[in-house]
Amino acid sequence: VSRIAYVNGRYVAHRDASVHIEDRGYQLADGIYEVFEVVDRRLVDVSRHVARLTRSLRELRIAMPMELSALHVVMREVIHRNRIRDGIVYLQVTRGVAPREHAFPARPVQPAVVVTARRMERAPRDARAGQGIRVITVPDSRWARVDIKSIGLLPNVLAKQAAYEAGATEAWFVDSDGFITEGSSTNAWILTGEGEIVTAPGSHGILSGVTRSIVLEVAARRGLRLAERSFTRTEAMAAAEAFLTSRTTAVTPVVQIDDQLIGDGKPGPVASDLRALCLAASAATRA
Ligand code: PMP
Repeated sequence: VSRIAYVNGRYVAHRDASVHIEDRGYQLADGIYEVFEVVDRRLVDVSRHVARLTRSLRELRIAMPMELSALHVVMREVIHRNRIRDGIVYLQVTRGVAPREHAFPARPVQPAVVVTARRMERAPRDARAGQGIRVITVPDSRWARVDIKSIGLLPNVLAKQAAYEAGATEAWFVDSDGFITEGSSTNAWILTGEGEIVTAPGSHGILSGVTRSIVLEVAARRGLRLAERSFTRTEAMAAAEAFLTSRTTAVTPVVQIDDQLIGDGKPGPVASDLRALCLAASAATRA
């Protein structure tokens, strides 16, 4: 099947899909995005993603481009037309098309909407989680509002590239006080020697991951000790376990940070347990 994208009200062949050269997303990164997951042909955790989408738009004062029910129909249609069983739906909303000018367009314009979908097999992701991954640390050079899921991702792009060039899978940002904030496209977690699961607090300093919120809930339900607090790179190096979370990686164990093996260098039991709980919780929301 050839891929189909939704662009501003029309379903078009992916290879022909394009936006205007004065789209403010293209020129100014003036827009936001959301990544939904498709499990067995259905979207999961829709309400959590819609809540974050709504918040991102509100923070940037971009109007919701269409009714949520209509958006849902479009996403389902894109999934169907692309015959996605397991994969992702990418949704991007920009402020729209207007002559280039930093300030908002003088006359309001329609926000521009693009929806694409991509197949992503489960097996390679499970295999990677079974092995555990390596991360590097890089200085957090981002702006102070990374809680907004903006399409301005240059520091994240450079961090991920640095990770790949170092033979690692992800880069964790370290702020100027030595605290790990999050990864370039994931949230960062440790399990301390005292058995406390720790992740940075939800604030303007991290993107509040949907997977992060799911893991906090399933871990609490399991009666595990949890702390949303800042932790340093030094503390992470000495952790019993480490892992990261995101939509497509779920919970993935981290077995090495820079040159330091974590624990015995193998995925830990707590991370593996949380992965299973998190995947089950999401699958239960298929809609
Ligand atoms: N932090 C950043 C910077 C991200 O880009 C992402 C992925 N959107 C996450 C964390 C994880 O968020 P989620 O669990 O919603 O995928």
